[in-house]
Amino acid sequence: MGVAQLNIFRQTLIDPILDFVFPPVCLACNKRIETKNESMCRQCWESITRVDSLHPTWIEIKSKFDAEGFIKDFSSSFLFEKEGALQHLIHLLKYQGMKSLGIKLGEEVGRKMLLDEYYAGADYLIPIPLHKLKYRERGYNQSEFICKGISNVTQISVNNSIAIRIKYTQTQTQLNLIERKENIGDAFKIDEKYQYLIQGKTFIIVDDVITTGSTINSCAKMLLATGAGCVLAASVALAE
Ligand SMILES: [Zn+2]
Repeated sequence: MGVAQLNIFRQTLIDPILDFVFPPVCLACNKRIETKNESMCRQCWESITRVDSLHPTWIEIKSKFDAEGFIKDFSSSFLFEKEGALQHLIHLLKYQGMKSLGIKLGEEVGRKMLLDEYYAGADYLIPIPLHKLKYRERGYNQSEFICKGISNVTQISVNNSIAIRIKYTQTQTQLNLIERKENIGDAFKIDEKYQYLIQGKTFIIVDDVITTGSTINSCAKMLLATGAGCVLAASVALAE
C-alpha cells in the first residue's frame, strides 16, 4: 500500500473508528468537540481572559519587576484564574505529560511577541530550568515545550543549557511573598562554558505562569552578572 492509499485507508476507516472509540473531547471541560484538530471547545477557549499592559495584574507584576530592576520588560497572553479553563490546561501540561499543549500555548505567546520589536529581535529563549531532581521526577521541563512553540513562530533559538537550577525549592504557592524571595535566593547558576555566548545578548526567560516574578528575577540577575545585555521575560499566563 502506498502512502496516499494508506492515508485514504486511515481517513475512511481508522479515523471514524478512533473517533467512535475516543471521540474528540475538549481538554478543559470534556465536552465533545466537532472541529477536527482542535483540543478545546470554543466556549472554553473564549472563557480564558486575555491580558495586556493595561490589565491590573499586569501592572502589579510590572511594578514588582521594576522594583528589582533585572527584567526590562515582559509579555504574557492570558490570566491564570482558579478553576478556569487555563488552570486545567496548565495542569495537564505540568503534571499529565501533555507536552504538545505547551507547544500550542507557546505558539500563542510567540504570535504576540512578533508584534514587539524588542522581543522579535532577541537572541535566545531560556526555559526557566527545573532542579535536576524535579526534572527527574517529572521527566520533562514544561517551559521547554512552551519555548519550542514560541520558537516555531518567532524563529528565536532555545537555549536550555546556559542556566542551571542549583537550589531545590519548595512549591512556591504555599509561601508568602517574603518567604518566596528567601526560598528562591540564588537558585540559579550560569554554566561558565557559555560565558562567551552571553556577552551583550538579549535573553527571554520563559515560564508557564508568572506570579511574583521572583524565580525569573533570580535567573535574570545571574545572566546580567555574567554579561547579558538585556533580559526580558515571557509566560503563558499571569496570576494574581
Ligand atoms: Zn470546553
